Order: sequence, then structure tokens, then C-alpha cells
Amino acid sequence: MAVDEERVTLPKFREDCLLTKGIDVRDLVGIRKEALLYVQPCTSERGKLMADIELTREIDSRFLDAEKLCSLLRVHRHRFADLRCSEALGVAKLRWGGRDISIFRNGKIKIQQAMDREEILRVANAVSRLIWAAAVCGVCGEPVINCASGNCGKCRLPEETAVDVSGILGSELLRQGHAELEGLAEQAPPDYESRLQRARFLALHFTMETPRKEDAVLGLLLLAKVDQVEAELKNR
Ligand SMILES: [Zn+2]
Ligand SMILES: [Zn+2]
Repeated sequence: MAVDEERVTLPKFREDCLLTKGIDVRDLVGIRKEALLYVQPCTSERGKLMADIELTREIDSRFLDAEKLCSLLRVHRHRFADLRCSEALGVAKLRWGGRDISIFRNGKIKIQQAMDREEILRVANAVSRLIWAAAVCGVCGEPVINCASGNCGKCRLPEETAVDVSGILGSELLRQGHAELEGLAEQAPPDYESRLQRARFLALHFTMETPRKEDAVLGLLLLAKVDQVEAELKNR
């Protein structure tokens, strides 16, 4: 084994699971350009653009699990200038890097005050990665995070695969996230809770930043592991 290799064993998932398929806006735009993205000038600010993005063709009222959506956004709240999320209404509004972003339970994303089309795609792709764990998988009807953890009981396959993570862009975030989970059993709740939150932040940050969606899955697996570690700590 080469010195710079770092192999980890990972579970495999069904091909039709949303964890495998992903909800990357860049992929969706490639498949159905017109149906996905409506770009028009901003009404509030001259020279800026606004866009509506549909993550699903069906105007399903439950593309996203609203409770999970809000909890994912709260993990990254200090990156946003403003964040409001209503589980009851299934709507989130946030301000991020000068853009206003609205996310709806039915899979619609609205981006306002964007500079150009490329920026819209970049922001939309990052947002789709951020909320991916809350998207409801068609195989099991549960949010993707439950597919990642295996808790849905349908999407995770018995086979495992070995992956070399050393060459993955952003893998340092993953490494830091896993390190936050070391030695938590000896710590008091206030200390381990902040480290769990830090691990969640790093897991999601990796998922948003790494280019390939196949690699991005590793962030959601870490996110699921944090939930599992937290449950174990609370039940001891
Ligand atoms: Zn699934
Ligand atoms: Zn599932």
C-alpha cells in the first residue's frame, strides 16, 4: 500500500436510492435544462438576476422532510446572515453571500440578487448538497439521512466497498470531522455536544464543497455517524 493512500470501508446503497442518485442541480440541469431553471431579472435590484429551481418535476408537497431541513440549515447557521425556517410551513429563508435564498418543502429553490447564471448554478448546487440529507428517498419514503445510516432498512446493501479517500478534494474536512468524534465518552455533555455540532458542520461542509457527488456521500455517512454517536452517549 502506498504511503499516501488512506483506504476506508464503506457500505453500498441501492442504485435507485436518492443517496446514490443525488440531487445535484448541475446534474439536473444537464438532464432537463428548461424544466429546471427559470432565470429572470430581479425586480428589487437592477442588473441582478433571480432564479427558480425545481429539484423535482413532480410538484410533490413532500420532496423535503421539513424537520430535517431546518435542522440541517441550523448546523450551518453561522455562515448565513439571516436564517428563518418553519417546520410547520415547510419553508426556509436565508441570506448567504449577498443572495436571498428560499427553500420550499416541495423541492423548489428561489435565489434572488445573483450576479449571473454561473453564480446561480454554483449557489443552487451548494444548496442542493446542503439539503440533500433532508430529501425524501423514493425507495423507502424516508429522508436520505436514514438511508445513509441504514435506519430505513431498505436502501443500504449488505456489500461493502473499499475507497481511497486521500485523493478526494476536501477530505481534510472529513478527517477533522471524524477526529471530533474521538474520545467523547470521557467528556461531560456540554463538551461533547459542541464537538458533535462541530463534526456535523464539517460533514456538511465537505458534502457542499467536494466536486463529485459520489464523494459527497461520505459527508452524509459522517453525518449519520454523528447521530449514532450522540444516541449512544445519551443512552449510557
Ligand atoms: Zn434511499
Ligand atoms: Zn432509505
